[in-house]
Amino acid sequence: MSARVGLPSDYFENYLSAPCAGNKRKDNMDNIEYMIQGKKYSLTADLHTHTVFSHGTGTIEANVIAARNRGLAKIGITDHGPGHVAYGVRRWNFAKMRAEVERLSALYTDIEILLGIEANIVNASGYLDIAPLEFKKFDYVIAGYHYGAVGGNPVGNAVTALKNIAQNKSGVTTRRQMRSNTRNIVRALERNDIKILTHPGDKAPVDLLEIAVVCAKTETLVELNTHHMSLSAEDIRAMALAPVKFIISSDAHSPNRIGDFVSAVDLAYEAGLDMGRIVNLNVR
Ligand SMILES: [Zn+2]
Ligand SMILES: [Zn+2]
Repeated sequence: MSARVGLPSDYFENYLSAPCAGNKRKDNMDNIEYMIQGKKYSLTADLHTHTVFSHGTGTIEANVIAARNRGLAKIGITDHGPGHVAYGVRRWNFAKMRAEVERLSALYTDIEILLGIEANIVNASGYLDIAPLEFKKFDYVIAGYHYGAVGGNPVGNAVTALKNIAQNKSGVTTRRQMRSNTRNIVRALERNDIKILTHPGDKAPVDLLEIAVVCAKTETLVELNTHHMSLSAEDIRAMALAPVKFIISSDAHSPNRIGDFVSAVDLAYEAGLDMGRIVNLNVR
């Protein structure tokens, strides 16, 4: 549903860990290769980044240049879905963003540039703020829960957000709220072709194992997000019980964070995760 012509259907599972051939590494940059326990890790793709089209600070081109400097083989531009009242990308910019990605793809041939979107999970029926017919405007759709996204039921969404904010602040989660958050995400996963579930467990408490089981079924990658870092090693171990694959994203809102991956490798290592389950990690 979401993949453009030419993007293989197993692209996200099997094509991301290719080394960064054709892109000259700049060895003076931090984080390009990270060594832990005798193995060298590098990131091959950063598929969750923001630009000025939502509330990032860099242009699409600035993100692409940063990704090339980091030695990445692929970069994805995924601004916030239009349902977010404060910083959702405006629908009239979709075509402009696609044209810019095409222009830059012709200009920078040593990196693959993809256009995605970080859709908002907006209500209990599993709908996103990207309609099924709009999926084809993007190479892929990623999705997560955010405060401030309105959907079919703005009042209900606002009440849910306030409850989650209060629970995150107090550190006390009710079972009822956790069930409701989990159900919303599960329905969204089952209803839509979501390639990456962004920052699970951040902003809203959920049953992570239940969500990981569904992600495995829907072939959705579970994100290890170095911007939010809300998961613990224990959380990762719980999700890893499901036959799910993981992806590291910077969720960069400025070009200088593109490709930031080290903290996620540390966390995965602490959790004892088989690094081969992280689809965009190259190991030497
Ligand atoms: Zn997000
Ligand atoms: Zn994001």
